[in-house]
Amino acid sequence: MRKKIAAANWKMNCTMQQAEDLLNNLSSANVNLSNDKISIIAVPFPYLLLAKQKLASKQNMFVAAQNCYTKRSGAFTGEISVEMLQSMNIPFVIIGHSERREYFNETNTMLADKVNIALEYNIQPIFCCGEALEIREAATQNSFVEKQLKDSLFHLSNEQILKVVIAYEPIWAIGTGKTATSQQAQEMHQHIRNVLAEKFGNDIANEISILYGGSVKGNNAVELFSQPDVDGGLVGGASLNAEEFSLIINAL
Ligand code: PEP
Repeated sequence: MRKKIAAANWKMNCTMQQAEDLLNNLSSANVNLSNDKISIIAVPFPYLLLAKQKLASKQNMFVAAQNCYTKRSGAFTGEISVEMLQSMNIPFVIIGHSERREYFNETNTMLADKVNIALEYNIQPIFCCGEALEIREAATQNSFVEKQLKDSLFHLSNEQILKVVIAYEPIWAIGTGKTATSQQAQEMHQHIRNVLAEKFGNDIANEISILYGGSVKGNNAVELFSQPDVDGGLVGGASLNAEEFSLIINAL
């Protein structure tokens, strides 16, 4: 059965001291993460080991990186390889967040390379997709997201796609306080699952967790996560407060 997932994306936030406080609060939070429910905390690179250490005793809570490079190693100043992440036992990496696509010009093709190298090193990609406001207004969001999936994921084998978590994040809802309605989220998640089913078959599509991202908060998570194809959330702003994020985990 596919997992329910509450994933945190801290983005480029927190000083060392703030990160330590937040991790301490998370590690003492009263959250229900049994068997089919997991939480993933994507912290900035400098805090990966600290996060692993602070959350080590927390069952079903994992640490993730927010990005990786397409190459194994070498003269790529400032980049982080999946080989490094693997050597630190980091099990997940966010790939293709809309901020990476927009500010760092990451293309679908480049993201396919990142997905490939992450899987090669046994790190599970949390692959982000989602449309900008003008695409939603033109009612072309379905074909837009479909192309993102096809270009970056459709070359994978059945075994590989089962390792991928998908996060649908409409750009107009990220950090704006403007959440997609649960109906809009469900419609797109169902579409994504159908697209996956056409390529990989129903059984596989039904095993893939599809998260919603875009202004998820403690007070809207229950409604969003109650939709049949919404398997949890990828959470930015609200993940910077352990109490608020705990409400989101417990909404799974
Ligand atoms: C995100 O960072 O992926 C995100 C969805 O941010 P926020 O929850 O702040 O909208």
